[in-house]
Amino acid sequence: TSHTPVVAIVACLMPDMGIGYAGKLPWKLAREMKYFREVTSRTVDPSKQNAVVMGRKTWESIPPRFRPLPGRTNVVVSRQFSHALEPAGPKGPAGVFHSNSLHRCLELLPQRVASLERIYVVGGAEIYAQSYTLCDAMLLTEIEPAPGAEPPQMDTFLDRVAVAERFERQGSVDAFVPPGVTLPDPETVLENGFQYRFALYTRR
Ligand code: NDP
Repeated sequence: TSHTPVVAIVACLMPDMGIGYAGKLPWKLAREMKYFREVTSRTVDPSKQNAVVMGRKTWESIPPRFRPLPGRTNVVVSRQFSHALEPAGPKGPAGVFHSNSLHRCLELLPQRVASLERIYVVGGAEIYAQSYTLCDAMLLTEIEPAPGAEPPQMDTFLDRVAVAERFERQGSVDAFVPPGVTLPDPETVLENGFQYRFALYTRR
């Protein structure tokens, strides 16, 4: 537990790194969601699990029947909560923690939750904006409009400068994602008017 890796995972429209529109995702990409589910759920050590940390607005954007994300320790951060890390409690769903501090919950999680392999930061925009200095790596799904398709409207972006300054793009995610994650072959997925690939960025 001395160091549990913190990894941001985010799908973004290149080159501007757009991630949202009107409080929602600007696309519907089933293959991308499967990748997200597999990466955040799978572990190298079968006795461990991962945590997913998200902002209060992203939690609320998940349809109630799909939350908490199963098989993962879910952490919701909100400045309205009273503790740095506490179980959502009998009133809340099981396997969910509340935190009033992104920084503190990343420190406390490995101490409080046994056998954590990785902590995934899963958004949204406000949380990613605070994560460039907190995470060891970023798993970026690099999306572009499919040839001939119009780009979607976007109002929410990653900080391209922060990403470029702090992270280095690696060739492939193969060695980084746990076994059992299905990777597309060929690498570029064409779906629903978009094309995208899964990329790893590591700390410079
Ligand atoms: P967030 O999900 O980032 O939630 C923001 C809330 O988190 C704040 O209002 C606050 O909650 C809480 N919060 C933020 N920082 C802290 C902190 N340091 N300590 C404690 N609580 C904190 O919302 P955004 O609106 O910024 O992002 C949502 C957008 O992001 C949507 O468009 C969504 O679709 C997109 N998104 C995109 C993803 C992608 O991969 N493309 C992934 C996830 C989301 P409170 O107000 O309760 O205090």
